[in-house]
Amino acid sequence: MTLSSTSSRTFDQLCNHFQETTLLHSANSLLEWDERTKLPTSGGPYRAEQITYLAGLIHQRETDLQVGAWLEELEGEFTDQDASGDKWVVMRELRRQYDKKTRLPQKLVEGLTRASVLGQQAWVEARKNDDFAILQPLLDDILKFKREQAECLGYEDVAYDALLDEFEPGEKTANVTRVLENLREELVPLVAAIQDSGKTPSLEILNREYCVEEQRKFGESVAAHIGFDFSRGRLDVTDHPFCSSMGPHDCRITTRYDAHYYPTAFFGILHEAGHGMYDQGLRADWYGLPPGSYVSLGIHESQSRMWENLVGRSYAFWQHFFPAAQAAFPTVLQTITLDDFYFAINDVRPSLIRVEADEATYNLHIIVRFELEQALIAGNLSVADLPDAWDDKYQQCLGIRPANRADGVLQDIHWSAALIGYFPTYSLGNLYASQLFDKAEEDLGNLNAQFLQGEFQPLLRWLRKNVHSTGQRYPAADLVHRITGTEIHHGPLMKHLRDKLEPLYGL
Ligand code: ZN
Repeated sequence: MTLSSTSSRTFDQLCNHFQETTLLHSANSLLEWDERTKLPTSGGPYRAEQITYLAGLIHQRETDLQVGAWLEELEGEFTDQDASGDKWVVMRELRRQYDKKTRLPQKLVEGLTRASVLGQQAWVEARKNDDFAILQPLLDDILKFKREQAECLGYEDVAYDALLDEFEPGEKTANVTRVLENLREELVPLVAAIQDSGKTPSLEILNREYCVEEQRKFGESVAAHIGFDFSRGRLDVTDHPFCSSMGPHDCRITTRYDAHYYPTAFFGILHEAGHGMYDQGLRADWYGLPPGSYVSLGIHESQSRMWENLVGRSYAFWQHFFPAAQAAFPTVLQTITLDDFYFAINDVRPSLIRVEADEATYNLHIIVRFELEQALIAGNLSVADLPDAWDDKYQQCLGIRPANRADGVLQDIHWSAALIGYFPTYSLGNLYASQLFDKAEEDLGNLNAQFLQGEFQPLLRWLRKNVHSTGQRYPAADLVHRITGTEIHHGPLMKHLRDKLEPLYGL
């Protein structure tokens, strides 16, 4: 496809505009990273001013009428034959994002931002005092704004679709419901069978004293070994781990250490390194534009979950790394067998806290939230009734009931931060991870045999080629379909869980 010289200039102006906006985005990311890793407490209010100011500038630039004019001028130049070329991907995605952003009135954007800042502050207080009433009025406001947002954005079926689309573009509530329902049907009996098996690993192994500095060194060395590039990234400490990029060659991952619970930091590092390797695999020449941007939260999470669970909790992975772990933590691991360690890190049991949940029950925590937030948006559940509805769902899905609100409805920050429609992307990530992993194995041969040898590069190269380098060329579901030949489904994840857990629990 060739653009006329006038159009070519317009296209360059459009790209420059968004690349400059990305300079602001990345500066904001750096401010946020610093806020969550280094900032002295007293610096908080001024930092909030800096971030809000930049966010305002970014919003102005993204909704600038000039962008609409450029897009309009260029759109006639493209035909269907250009579909999937880089320039077409730029046009398609910038148009989609521009239309969405300009549909939201400034007043709504400001109201929602303010409600989410106040909501998060109220959440901290509510959680500390185990008192949902502190959060309730803020959550009422947030829900009003989110319903208004959905109406402005528009939807075909249910309002929740519009909110889900913010995080998983193109995905539909009905489809996610179907796939999670199928997953639940097979997951619940598996978890029940595990509980009835009478077998449990010795978890005490994981609660011994693991020197924090050794945890950092060992975690970093494993992250580097599997492919996280520390010349283009770094690892720091935070309270709520995250991964953030502030340039094409600057990806920051974070973790938190618990001297008496080994999995928190180690699997946290693998998880964030998985996110980080995706960011590091995006095309640097298109940084800040759709061909060099991640496609959806579900695909992002598929990368983190793959390295954390499918690779990092596999037997072959530990056959390779366990001797090094024993050397790093000689006083705690020297007398432990690989099999006992492997069983302990793959323990499955219903629990109350999502972020500490195992690979299998994790998805039940997501189903609870997915159902509740849909009911809230649809108006079938009031905020006042939410805490008890939460407890009832836990009883129904996991067979346990929180003893207080802090371990129940107040455990996650998402809703108070106005993130509604976000939770299902965690489970989509788990499902996509298994589908992609199976296809990688089909293409590359026995991956476990490679892990046993400490070879992780073939899998990473495969992900680079098939997932990372494609940027936003295809929507998430389409991308997975093109790679694997199948729609999203629960089969590969369930097979992976059965193959691992049935032998462990003698099922
Ligand atoms: Zn993640």
